[in-house]
Amino acid sequence: MRAIAEPARETPVFGEFDVVVLGGGPAGIAAGTAAARGGAKTLLVERYGFLGGMGTAAGVTNFCGLHANVHGEHVRVVRGVADELLDRVAALDGLNEPHLVFGRILAQAYDTAAFKCAADQMLLGAGANALFHATAVGVVRDERGDVDALLVETRSGRCAVRAATFVDCSGDGDLAHFAGAAMAQGSQMLYPTLMFRVGAVDDARAGEAWRTIPALMDAAEAAGEFSFPRRGAIVRPQRHAGEWRVNVTQLKNADGSAVDGTDALALSRAEVEGRRQAVDYLRFLRARVPGFERAYLLEIAPQVGIRETRRLVGEHVLSGDDVVACADFADTIGVNGWPLELHVAGDVEWRWPAVGSRGFNQLPLRMLLPADVGGARAPRNVVVAGRCASMTHDGQSAARVSGGCFVMGQAAGTLAALARRRSQALRAVPVDAVQQLLAADGVYLGTALPAG
Ligand SMILES: Cc1cc2nc3c(=O)[nH]c(=O)nc-3n(C[C@H](O)[C@H](O)[C@H](O)COP(=O)(O)OP(=O)(O)OC[C@H]3O[C@@H](n4cnc5c(N)ncnc54)[C@H](O)[C@@H]3O)c2cc1C
Repeated sequence: MRAIAEPARETPVFGEFDVVVLGGGPAGIAAGTAAARGGAKTLLVERYGFLGGMGTAAGVTNFCGLHANVHGEHVRVVRGVADELLDRVAALDGLNEPHLVFGRILAQAYDTAAFKCAADQMLLGAGANALFHATAVGVVRDERGDVDALLVETRSGRCAVRAATFVDCSGDGDLAHFAGAAMAQGSQMLYPTLMFRVGAVDDARAGEAWRTIPALMDAAEAAGEFSFPRRGAIVRPQRHAGEWRVNVTQLKNADGSAVDGTDALALSRAEVEGRRQAVDYLRFLRARVPGFERAYLLEIAPQVGIRETRRLVGEHVLSGDDVVACADFADTIGVNGWPLELHVAGDVEWRWPAVGSRGFNQLPLRMLLPADVGGARAPRNVVVAGRCASMTHDGQSAARVSGGCFVMGQAAGTLAALARRRSQALRAVPVDAVQQLLAADGVYLGTALPAG
């Protein structure tokens, strides 16, 4: 690619904060709320005009990972700020009752608009500031390699935001990547999906259509009338009459590999292909699924849903085995109860903890802290939470869902605020001080069995 040199420039400083959080998805909402409640002057920077991340911008509309199957019993295991957020979504009449997935674990659908408003209320009510329509494009580092300022493009131009601690909740690890932290990005990532919702479904006739749709898809494909991007689909009702979400598209490159959410050209093609697949699937629903005859495209998500791109290489890398074996860690910050959910070419593969097991793994604080790799010193004032935290491809396929991201975000914000209050570096804050505060704020750390 040809390049040009840009002239050097003076960049105005927008403000100085104790904590800057990049990204307003599940992790960022929890991080910003916890940091502000911990007394830190906090700014959350978000490229969209609303919060929710993939949960709203990508139309996910369903919380996974809030519950675990604990020795056969379904228990809410993600608590803390997640409790308050769910209460606020429910108060806006935007929350379904939990529903069973494969008869094994609970998930809980929600309305996008209610999530956006509830997240505003919680984050800003906690005293955090938000800068929307602001895209982070780089960092300035000090002589030790720590981050001095985050560079942000806004509708009023480019500016710098300074902070003692930066929490990267960008999903793609943008800030940590800009800061030179070691990141992993596999050649084979989880495949993205463009989500959509349909309206005007006859709920009574549709019934439990999610049970029959996979067989109807197989029959339609066998008859040569339709061809689908992946096997099966998640087609489920939302809170309000006639509205169902559809998770079925799968976005690949010409060579069959997963679209890379950090590749602008591949993303551009994926948006168009995702809409083509959505239109085609609506045709199938209307033609073949009872109750969907008059269904229409109520909304195609504003952006293609990205499950995995860059992952931090942290002081602990959470693995798929950690998830399946229900691992414990001395520095637990909360738990993940979601199984491995691998969006592979043409399919979704699941791996679960053993039936009858405890059903959740603890998440260690170290998975949020960049590691020194190959002699290179990682930035000391950066914490990474959410789907870009330190996990293997397999581990990430589980803990990337909303529940795990709330847990990681609350811990990251709590750690950052505690470091400020104690005038200590992030790594000097005793783990038990973080754990005590998380427990006091309602987080379930997974050290004793949860109340059923
Ligand atoms: C199609 C799909 C279906 C899914 N289904 C489910 C489900 O049913 N249940 C479930 O719980 N989870 C599901 N997930 C997973 C889950 O939604 C995400 O993994 C989760 O939202 C990740 O949260 P996060 O806060 O780490 O990051 P994200 O939700 O990705 O949020 C990151 C935020 O950072 C912002 N941002 C990124 N870069 C910048 C930048 N440079 N400058 C400014 N802002 C930036 C983004 O705009 C975004 O708001 C699904 C994911 C996808 C893609």
